[in-house]
Amino acid sequence: MSSCPRRECSTWRLCRFAGRSAGPDGELKPGYHSGVSAGRAQTGDWRWRGESDRAIDRVKAAFHGAAIIAGIASRRFALTGPWFVTFKLTRACNLTCAFCRYRGGAGDEGGSMPASRGAVHLDRDLALRTLEELPELGTQRVSFQGDGEPLLYPHLFEVLGEARRLGLVCELITNGVMITDDVASRLVELEIDEVCVSITSATQESYTALHGGNGGRHWPGVREGVRRLVRRRGGASRPKVLLVYVLARPNWREVPEMIAQADELGADGVAFAPMAVYSDEMRALAVTAEEERAALEALRAGISGLGGDRAIEIVGDPLLRYGGGEGIASRIRCSIGWLTAGVRPAGEVVPCLRSDWIAGNLHDQSFREIWRGPAFQEFRRRSIRIGGGTDPALKSRCSYCCFYPMLRRANHAVSLASFFTWA
Ligand code: SF4
Ligand code: SF4
Repeated sequence: MSSCPRRECSTWRLCRFAGRSAGPDGELKPGYHSGVSAGRAQTGDWRWRGESDRAIDRVKAAFHGAAIIAGIASRRFALTGPWFVTFKLTRACNLTCAFCRYRGGAGDEGGSMPASRGAVHLDRDLALRTLEELPELGTQRVSFQGDGEPLLYPHLFEVLGEARRLGLVCELITNGVMITDDVASRLVELEIDEVCVSITSATQESYTALHGGNGGRHWPGVREGVRRLVRRRGGASRPKVLLVYVLARPNWREVPEMIAQADELGADGVAFAPMAVYSDEMRALAVTAEEERAALEALRAGISGLGGDRAIEIVGDPLLRYGGGEGIASRIRCSIGWLTAGVRPAGEVVPCLRSDWIAGNLHDQSFREIWRGPAFQEFRRRSIRIGGGTDPALKSRCSYCCFYPMLRRANHAVSLASFFTWA
């Protein structure tokens, strides 16, 4: 398998055939699994198709967005597929972060989470099959992460390659411990859109406090991994490299240093996430109400200090989430069942990554069947009520809902659409 042999074409990324499988003789196939030839493209055809496909993609995305909004407004039906799908590829992990919902695995030496929760890795064929379903459903974006560390997933690059070939916007979230030269090269070659590195801290001290046992020893390696990726990317536009900081008691005072670290390592942006609290043990690590206010001020100051010739961008609207506080989910209609779906390593499909509501299993049904099935419908019906995401029946843990900015935008769009259709 090789990718498009016509990369010299200036619009090859937009081309209908770009990135699809091609034999050594340049024969094109319409899909990864296909044995059917799609013929041979002429350079002129590729340019023409690239430009027209770009316009078509935009129109399709606009219709898809409108269909999602119409579905939310109906409060019952999904008229199209999810905007993005998250694949949790593995439960294996090489860290035991103190803020992790799943920690308790074998830890530092590359173990896996307890076997009682099913398969360690998402089945390869099932992952590829599910990806192939998504473009037809209108899905724009996929995120690859783990209930563990995705770089421990044995089929990661094959799955990433397939997502790119299908034209999906691709994000990878990693703890950064395993970004070797080879990994960095492959991520750059595949032109992954975003690599989010959960670097967590701006100092060795707070990283150690948040990574139990001797996990703190990984911090210099994670920093070096970011440097490698940036170096390997050189002047190319992809992947965008983002540093992710989960703010908790040991590190919230480091906001200015966190932004400076992104500058120092050559990253493109930073994302801040308040630490979600899943247990009493984690409560001790969370910021107090007073610290939360101070952290919000620190974020405001840090963000207002950007601009000018600073290239760093702040991703994900942290002020909204911090400003809303831990109970933010109880004050908003949760429309996540129309916007996203998550796939877990055992093949289970969930509407929200914070929910244990299982809508179906990909070992038994296709993604499309689960998305349109009764369990997903029931989740939508319950969650769309105000504070619906916090309904105990939905088994969601909505502390500092990470989707709040997106839900808010969707709600505004629904209100606007209702206004214009009211007559
Ligand atoms: S790297 Fe991710 S999955 Fe692994 S322990 Fe840390 S937060 Fe959990
Ligand atoms: S965390 Fe809760 S409120 Fe937020 S999207 Fe998920 S289910 Fe909805």
